[in-house]
Amino acid sequence: MLIMDNIDSTVRKIDGYSLELAKKLISGGSLVAFPTETVYGLGANAYSDDAIKAIYDAKNRPLDNPLIVHVHKDYDITELVFDNDIAKKIREKFCPGPITLVYNSKNKVSPLVSCGLSTLAIRIPSHESAQKFLEYVDLPIAAPSANVSKHTSPVTALHVFEDFKDNVPLILDGGRCDGGIESTVVDVTGDYPVILRKGLVTAEDIKAVVGKCEYANDDSSLKARSPGMKYLHYAPKVQTVLFARDDLENAIAFYKQTEIDGKKPVFMCEDKISQKLDGYNVLNLGASGAQMANRLYYLLHEGEKIADIIIGIELDITDEILLGVNNRFLKAFGK
Ligand code: AMP
Ligand code: MG
Repeated sequence: MLIMDNIDSTVRKIDGYSLELAKKLISGGSLVAFPTETVYGLGANAYSDDAIKAIYDAKNRPLDNPLIVHVHKDYDITELVFDNDIAKKIREKFCPGPITLVYNSKNKVSPLVSCGLSTLAIRIPSHESAQKFLEYVDLPIAAPSANVSKHTSPVTALHVFEDFKDNVPLILDGGRCDGGIESTVVDVTGDYPVILRKGLVTAEDIKAVVGKCEYANDDSSLKARSPGMKYLHYAPKVQTVLFARDDLENAIAFYKQTEIDGKKPVFMCEDKISQKLDGYNVLNLGASGAQMANRLYYLLHEGEKIADIIIGIELDITDEILLGVNNRFLKAFGK
């Protein structure tokens, strides 16, 4: 079968051969997908206008949604940006890890990376394979999540392949991502850090290190500061519908009606709710914020394979990581 042939030549375990191929492709301006501890990234040489344009083209990404530059842990970021004490303290505590810092840029990389903004977002991923890839290619790599724009972010190499087929020549396979949602994005250009995108590192975590940290939750200011947040995201390819936690009876009635209509429904909810749904098909997100982050995109991908309609039940926000999970969960359900 053609697809299986493609998959064998595109998705490769990380070894000397695939890393050498990755280096060749990146130096030639091509794209390489790679695993990180959050989601898979679609990488290209951050210095090359053409390579960056290829990312936007492949993803069908709006041209005003800037990219994050990924660097090796030993890379000197002052090559690219103006550093400061707040950023240094945050990096010492959380990097390498699932956090991206937005700095004032020295305008060394392609202007397409930041869509003309005067800032540049940099991340040092902790995933061993991401570190190997970055060390091997020896270049700053601009990389958004490796999904077609608006679709659910990928947490396995197969998810990447399903979105791009052979439009991406190499997908490095590092297994399933642990973190499961995209990095926390923090603006460190002001007097105190401001979180532009919620993630696994929370405001409380950052406050403990630098004293003050806020979420940019005023919608209009956030749109101006983090252009990507205004777009629809994370949607599975099947229909979705969301019910309140106290509306389980109606959710069950909807599930049954869906079956009567000849379609396959599946619930998506946290563990507490799933215990009340014995006998129904359920995508169980788990109990804690970290567990739900780990499972959310994976289960959205599963849902679109096994069902025609995913019936979501609103989450109970019991810890700070769940703020980030819930943000993606609601967007996946079109909210
Ligand atoms: P993605 O690559 O899909 O994870 O999206 C990258 C996210 O980082 C988007 O939400 C962007 O808006 C945000 N981002 C990247 N660069 C910047 C920047 N210079 N300033 C503010 N936000 C940024
Ligand atoms: Mg994305």
